[in-house]
Amino acid sequence: MTPYDAIIIGTGQAGPALAARLAKGGRRVAVVERGRFGGTCVNNGCTPTKTLIASAYAARLAQRAADYGLRVERPVAVDMARVKARKDTLVDSTATSVEHWMCALPNTTVYRGHARFVDAHTITVGADTLTAEWVFIDVGGRPYVPDLSGLEQVSYLTSESMMDIDFLPERLLIVGGSYVGLEFGQMYRRFGSRVTVVEMGPRLIGKEDPDVSDAVRDVLAAEEIEIRLDAKCIALEAAPSGALLRLDCATGAPTVTGTHVLLAVGRVPNTDDLGLREAGIETDARGYIKVDETLNTSAGNVYALGDCNGRGAFTHTAYNDYEIVADNLLNGTNRKVSDRIPIYGLFTDPPLGRVGMSEVEARRAGYQVLIGKMPMSRVARAREKGETQGFMKVLVDASSKQILGVAILGVGGDEAVHSLLDAMYGRLPYTAVQHGVRIHPTVSELIPTLLSELAPLA
Ligand SMILES: Cc1cc2nc3c(=O)[nH]c(=O)nc-3n(C[C@H](O)[C@H](O)[C@H](O)COP(=O)(O)OP(=O)(O)OC[C@H]3O[C@@H](n4cnc5c(N)ncnc54)[C@H](O)[C@@H]3O)c2cc1C
Repeated sequence: MTPYDAIIIGTGQAGPALAARLAKGGRRVAVVERGRFGGTCVNNGCTPTKTLIASAYAARLAQRAADYGLRVERPVAVDMARVKARKDTLVDSTATSVEHWMCALPNTTVYRGHARFVDAHTITVGADTLTAEWVFIDVGGRPYVPDLSGLEQVSYLTSESMMDIDFLPERLLIVGGSYVGLEFGQMYRRFGSRVTVVEMGPRLIGKEDPDVSDAVRDVLAAEEIEIRLDAKCIALEAAPSGALLRLDCATGAPTVTGTHVLLAVGRVPNTDDLGLREAGIETDARGYIKVDETLNTSAGNVYALGDCNGRGAFTHTAYNDYEIVADNLLNGTNRKVSDRIPIYGLFTDPPLGRVGMSEVEARRAGYQVLIGKMPMSRVARAREKGETQGFMKVLVDASSKQILGVAILGVGGDEAVHSLLDAMYGRLPYTAVQHGVRIHPTVSELIPTLLSELAPLA
C-alpha cells in the first residue's frame, strides 16, 4: 500500500492541472495514465483535428486561388503522408510535454497502467495498490460504436483510428451528421475524397436551431459533400468497393457505396472498467458518473471531472471542472458547475461559435425574446477575405435586456462569439455592448450594429 493525499486517474484536460496545483501545494499526489498522456484532446481530438483542418483550409484556399487573383496549378495535390506527419509532430510534442510535465512535478509519482477502485480510498494499478484521502476521476470517453446491422462485415474507422491514416479514402461514408462527423467530412472533401454524410435525424447538428443546421448543410453541399438525412435504418454490407450503406431516406436512392466508413455517432464514458460499484460511485443509465454541483460523486471523497461526468463534452469544460474542484477544495470557494455558460465551436469552415441558449431553448424557457440576425455578407472583413457564408444571430431577453444566446456561423465566428460572453457573465444589458466602439475591419465590429437591429422573435 502506498499512501497519497490524492490520486488522479487520467491525464486528459482536468487531471494534469489539478495534479500540478495539488503537488505545488505540498500534497503527495499519484497520477495514473493507461494510454498516451494528454488524453483525447491532445491525441485524438482537438489538437489533431484542428491541425488537419488547417491543412484542409490551405488546400481549399489553393483550390480557390483564382478568386484571389493567383495562378495555382490545378488540381491542387494534397500529400496525405505529409499532412499526417504535420499533425503527428504537433500531437507528439504536446503529448510528450504533458508527460514530462507530470513526471517532473514535485511530490508526484506517475503510474502507467489501468486504474481500478478496490474501495473509495483504494486503487490498484497493475501490481501496485495506492490509497488516498481524495480521488479524482478524469477518465474521459471513447467513440461509441453502434450496433448497426452488418457492421461485422465491414472494417470501419472511428475518430481515433482516423488519426492513423496517411492516405486519401476515395469515397468516405460518414455515419453521423454532428460535430465530429462534419469536421471530418469537410476536411476529407477538401483533401480530395468524395464524401457522403448519413444522418438519422431530419437535419445536421440537430441540437442547433434549424437556420444554423440549414446554413451548415448549404456550406457543405456547396463543396459537393453529399448529405443524406432521415436515414432511419442504417445497415452495412461488404461491397466490392469496400462498403455499402443501406439507408431508409425519405428521398433519393436507398443505398450509397464507399471505400471507407467512419462512424461518428457520439461517445461513451470510460467508466465501465473502473470498479465504480466497489467504491460506491453511482452512474446514470448511460454510464456517466453522477455528480453534484461541485462535481462530488456519491462517494464523498471522490470527484469526477471532464467528459466522464456528463456535465460537459469539451476541453474547456473539463479544464473548468478542474478550476471548480481545486478552488473549492484548496481555496474554500463555493464554485458550481451550473455557473458555467455553455459555449463551444464547430470547426467547419466557416466555423460556428455558439454561446448560451438557442432560439428553441430560449422560447421553451418562456423568455420574451428579441432577435438580431445579420448575414455575413454585410461584414466588411468577410467580404474583403472573400468568405461571406453564414450569419450572426443574437438573442436577448426583452425584460432584463440580458443576452441569452449567440450563434456566429461565419469567418472568425469561433473568436467573435467571445465578445458577447463577458457581458453574459457580467449580466450586463445588451446596450452596454451596443454602445462600445470596436476595431475596423473585424467581424466583432458588426455586433453593436446587430444589437441595434433587435426585433421581437416572431
Ligand atoms: C474528434 C474530436 C474532436 C474534438 N474537438 C474538440 C474541440 O475542438 N474543442 C473542444 O473543446 N473539445 C473537443 N473535443 C472533445 C475533447 O477532446 C474532450 O472533451 C476532452 O478531451 C475531455 O477531456 P477529459 O479530461 O474529460 O478526458 P480525456 O481527454 O478523454 O482523457 C482521459 C484520460 O484518462 C485515461 N484513462 C481512462 N481510463 C483510465 C483508467 N482506468 N486508468 C488510467 N487512465 C485512464 C485515458 O487514457 C485518457 O488519457 C473533441 C473530441 C473528439 C473525439
